Amino acid sequence: MSYQHLLAELDLGFTRLRNRVVMGSMHTGMEDRFWNYPKLAEYFRERAKGGVGLIITGGISPNRQGWLLPFGGTLNSVFDLRNHRLLTGAVHAEGGKIALQILHAGRYGYQPFVVSASALKSPISKFKPRALTEAGIARTVRDYARCARLAQRAGYDGIEIMGSEGYLLNQFLCPRTNQRTDRYGGSIENRMRLAREIVERVRAVCGERFIVVYRLSLIDLVEGGNTWEETVQVAQALEAAGVTMFNTGIGWHEARVPTIVTSVPRAAFAALSARLKAAVKVPVIVSNRINTPEVAEELLAQGTGDLVSMARPLLADPEFVLKTAEGRAHEINTCIACNQACLDHTFKNQRASCLVNPRAGRETELIYRPIAGQQAARSVAVVGAGPAGLSAATVAASRGHRVTLFDANATIGGQFNLAMRVPGKEEVSETIRYFQSQLERHRVDVRLETRVDPALLAAGGYDDVIIATGIVPRNPAIAGINGPNVLSYVDVLRGAAVGRRVAVIGAGGIGFDVSEFLLHRSGDPLPVPRDTWLDEWGVDLTVRERGGLKPPAPAQPVREIWLLQRKAGKLGMGLGKTSGWVHRATLARNGVKMLGGVSYQEISERGLKIAREGLEEWLEVDTIVVCAGQESLRDLHPETAERAADRTNGSNGSNGANGPRYHVIGGAKVATELDAKRAIREGAEVAAAL
Ligand code: FAD
Ligand code: NAP
Ligand code: SF4
Repeated sequence: MSYQHLLAELDLGFTRLRNRVVMGSMHTGMEDRFWNYPKLAEYFRERAKGGVGLIITGGISPNRQGWLLPFGGTLNSVFDLRNHRLLTGAVHAEGGKIALQILHAGRYGYQPFVVSASALKSPISKFKPRALTEAGIARTVRDYARCARLAQRAGYDGIEIMGSEGYLLNQFLCPRTNQRTDRYGGSIENRMRLAREIVERVRAVCGERFIVVYRLSLIDLVEGGNTWEETVQVAQALEAAGVTMFNTGIGWHEARVPTIVTSVPRAAFAALSARLKAAVKVPVIVSNRINTPEVAEELLAQGTGDLVSMARPLLADPEFVLKTAEGRAHEINTCIACNQACLDHTFKNQRASCLVNPRAGRETELIYRPIAGQQAARSVAVVGAGPAGLSAATVAASRGHRVTLFDANATIGGQFNLAMRVPGKEEVSETIRYFQSQLERHRVDVRLETRVDPALLAAGGYDDVIIATGIVPRNPAIAGINGPNVLSYVDVLRGAAVGRRVAVIGAGGIGFDVSEFLLHRSGDPLPVPRDTWLDEWGVDLTVRERGGLKPPAPAQPVREIWLLQRKAGKLGMGLGKTSGWVHRATLARNGVKMLGGVSYQEISERGLKIAREGLEEWLEVDTIVVCAGQESLRDLHPETAERAADRTNGSNGSNGANGPRYHVIGGAKVATELDAKRAIREGAEVAAAL
């Protein structure tokens, strides 16, 4: 593929973008604290060096009322300029361009000063907003303009005005949140007055030679959102007011339709950008669930938009554009849309990073330094080619060490080979493809179908041995657990026959995944086709009705499923904040009975006997699937491995004067609360320290 559309320059008249890739705004957490700006600058520098055309920063509030969190990042005084110049300087040094996103959270702010169009509390913040007065609105317009002008002085090439996702400007635009009766409420002309005044004022103070992107909500996905006709009216008015480009926004944060998690089909909402492009003259940026250069190129070739916004994919691989341009697209570390280390971190007030790229956000801390000078290449054995072992092997080899990677299986990937069979998690296969490319690039000696034992390790004479042997599924002590009607999740995901009525023991991530797997017939088209998915979630891309919602298509479950856990309370509380609700909603919609506070009594031909709230009952099921967690696999060098793990806590440690140094990572180290994020991070950290 030539990627000629994606890599084409864009001439905006007064400035040029070197290609059509926009790194969409991502709140990393670093923008909120001035002492993190040097780190933030390096984070942006790597992405600019990787060739991205335009970077948009995380949201910065124009004033304190607009803070998303107390003491969030601002740019409202000359004293802030120095910090911001670190960012613009780093990006410009690498030939890139950068725009500051101005975000006023409105009623989504999680702080006591919140304001909105009307005094209506949002379902996702406990703080009730105060309705802005007309004087307050005028001040807000001035604050936006001051922020934009300061951005210009700090060296930014432009700004993005955040007008989507349910933030302040959306709150003014839609009847859902705007019940005003003054010049800013009622008709769409009035509801868009604030957005229009902001664009006009920004243009007036910053002049014509400054990029003004407006992120416009093309489908609100909430009741009381706008219709398509209103959205076009807003777009045309903002274009006339001076917008340089429109970026696409999809859905409010309070919407109950997923818009970016991994089960959302790729480019599911792109058709809306195409419709906007037909209605305006300025360039349109397509967004949402675009994560490969192939999809991006196809969208541009079809005329869906003029540029493509990718945020998380640039966290996952800062060299996305460079690799595309150099014909190395197969080496891209693809974002699998899991949200586990980016958005889920943001919601927990932790710094954003990336599950598949633990360096993201830690560019100055986790450094893969090539071995040089006094340091000789070490001979390293990595046992286990799951995410932990793959990460360790590829990072160690990329630094110049001689690495041999073993796995008992015929393929690399470990448990990711099971995860990728779960409907909606197909993206996981991209991570295996990426690691395969890196094993080849860095010439790792890969020995599959080789179960490692102590003799093999001793014969190898290695300097370092990295144990990444993962886990074994837990087999709980329940009477009848070895019966013919009991399967483990491994059997099920590998295709074992499962009856029509099923009980799933254990409601962690894997219990949820297996339940979702069992809702599909083998042979169903996967990933779920876009139109089927839109119907299932009740999304109408014509946006005839307000918000673009329609009644969801009725579910047609192929099995009757009971999902069980011993803990009392709601199931799935350990799942990610941004994806857990999607899993729960999918299962609930398909009639899965989710029971907490269960004790397992016995299993027989009749099914599974449980006790709950003092009552015993038989679940008369055909199959019982065990998803009861996992235990570390420590059969290889159990003593050595445990000693090394205790002593070194996963980092370097000598195992005696002449023996190899042992390191234990991933599931082999600790099985509880293991996920691929930790496995990959530990692999990278151990390898970076060799
Ligand atoms: P493993 O992946 O278990 O790999 C260990 C490897 O070691 C295996 O390939 C094994 O064959 C090999 N091995 C063992 N002993 C030997 C030996 N003696 N010699 C040679 N080779 C050996 N995590 C997430 O973060 N997000 C998700 O969405 C997610 N979804 C999942 C869905 C499913 C269905 C499953 C099963 C898991 C999911 N996980 C998910 C969990 C994630 O896959 C694991 O946390 C991760 O794979 C652990 O990595 P690891 O390298 O430590 O172990
Ligand atoms: P898990 O999340 O630890 O869940 C294990 C489940 O088994 C729990 O519901 C637990 O609940 C139950 N259980 C534990 N011991 C039991 C016993 N002795 N008898 C009966 N039930 C028992 O583990 P997992 O589901 O196997 O997942 C493994 C890891 O992969 C997780 O840490 C997870 O982070 C990761 N993963 C993540 C995702 C994701 O979407 N992010 C998806 C899949 C997997 P009770 O103790 O209450 O019964
Ligand atoms: Fe993508 Fe997951 Fe990385 Fe976030 S953590 S950037 S969703 S791969």
